[in-house]
Amino acid sequence: RLDYRNISENFVYKSTNAINRKAPVTTEAIQSVARLYTELKNHSNTLNAKRNARSMIGEVVRKSAGAKKLKEEILELEEIVSRTEQTLLETALAIPNDTHPSAPLGPESAAVVLASHGPDLLAATPTRDHVSIAKKLGWLNLESGSQVTGSSWYYLTNQGALLEMALANYALSVAIKHGFKPVTTPDVVRSDIARRCGFQPRDPANAQASQAYHLQHLSSAPSPELVLSATSEIPLAGMFANQLLLSTSLPLKVAGIGHAFRAEAGASGADTRGLYRVHQFSKVELFAVTTQEASESMMEEMRRVQTTILTELRLPFRILDMPTEELGASAYRKYDMEVWMPGRGRWGEVSSLSNCTDFQARRLLIRYHLQTPKSSGGSTSVPAGNRFAHTLNGTAAAIPRLIVALIENGIELDDSGEPVALHLPGVLRPYWLGDNTLIKW
Ligand code: AMP
Repeated sequence: RLDYRNISENFVYKSTNAINRKAPVTTEAIQSVARLYTELKNHSNTLNAKRNARSMIGEVVRKSAGAKKLKEEILELEEIVSRTEQTLLETALAIPNDTHPSAPLGPESAAVVLASHGPDLLAATPTRDHVSIAKKLGWLNLESGSQVTGSSWYYLTNQGALLEMALANYALSVAIKHGFKPVTTPDVVRSDIARRCGFQPRDPANAQASQAYHLQHLSSAPSPELVLSATSEIPLAGMFANQLLLSTSLPLKVAGIGHAFRAEAGASGADTRGLYRVHQFSKVELFAVTTQEASESMMEEMRRVQTTILTELRLPFRILDMPTEELGASAYRKYDMEVWMPGRGRWGEVSSLSNCTDFQARRLLIRYHLQTPKSSGGSTSVPAGNRFAHTLNGTAAAIPRLIVALIENGIELDDSGEPVALHLPGVLRPYWLGDNTLIKW
């Protein structure tokens, strides 16, 4: 399913691209794809020739020494072919997606601001810190989270819990209005599905630095390795695995409601304070399957959904075109949305949007059948046939960071820094189950 020929013919681009993206694959490994691919073809041809020769010989000759030798050679070749195939696949799987020519080159600091939206920025001040305010409001319990599970686990309480519900339902309502069908997703996925989506549940170089929570099986029967899903993008992409879709049925647009689990190995400092970087969070996720021709316009469509949500939440935000080193394995292009968080005194990423082109579809076998239009006498340059789909994913609402943003931007403090009211956007009101103590709409 991986395009070995394309990798072999474009290994200079693929190698430079991998270096630009700081992908964990060496130039030598990428270069070896062409050699392994030629070896595989040669061995497979020889194997087929020998199998044909064997099938032609009669019963009497089969018992001869020559025929026995042929049988042994076939067995040996079968093993070589299978080994070469495996090495080729493993090498090629580590190669990241190609990169959109407009994506900036370099690390996070090279991100380009595409647009800014929303109200003026409030001055940075620690008095707007979401942790102390949420505690004063009785919305956040980090101590029990720490006691029951560990650090960076939390309870949302009282109106804090209701704010999570209101945000999720509001974001879902916008997604549905834009044609995304709601789906609740499993929080546990097979690790090979995660890998096919471009996630590395176990770092091959360092198993201790795993980004995923691995589940242990209670039974001794062989069963697939399972992990807690890092994002519902994984079960959503997996939902379309092994499907041949009709091009006329595309795009397929779904909105997943699920939890994201992040081991966040190596995370430290101010980022881990309060709700900003936690190990579990609720998320509404947009996911689309479309054609090769339509994926760039789908990316813009999904960006409009995200822009609507953050604008209606009255948050000051900017949209960034993310540079090569921030694209992960699967994204061809990625936009991040960052909201100004005055209590933290910095911008904070609240949403992300990736066009994965055919990277995930090739690994999950998501294809569509393209029919040649039967227009009267008209011809098309696009031949009919099966093609790999393009997949895209984007955050509609990653709840804890939206709560950080709403508290730090919406809190009204008296002269002594005590909260007197929290201003919440009116779009949440239809989804609000609580009373309005301290809330101003
Ligand atoms: P990602 O799938 O990594 O692009 O994350 C999607 C969104 O989830 C990000 O834009 C953040 O808003 C949010 N997010 C990611 N990691 C965390 C975390 N550890 N804690 C809270 N929110 C997170």
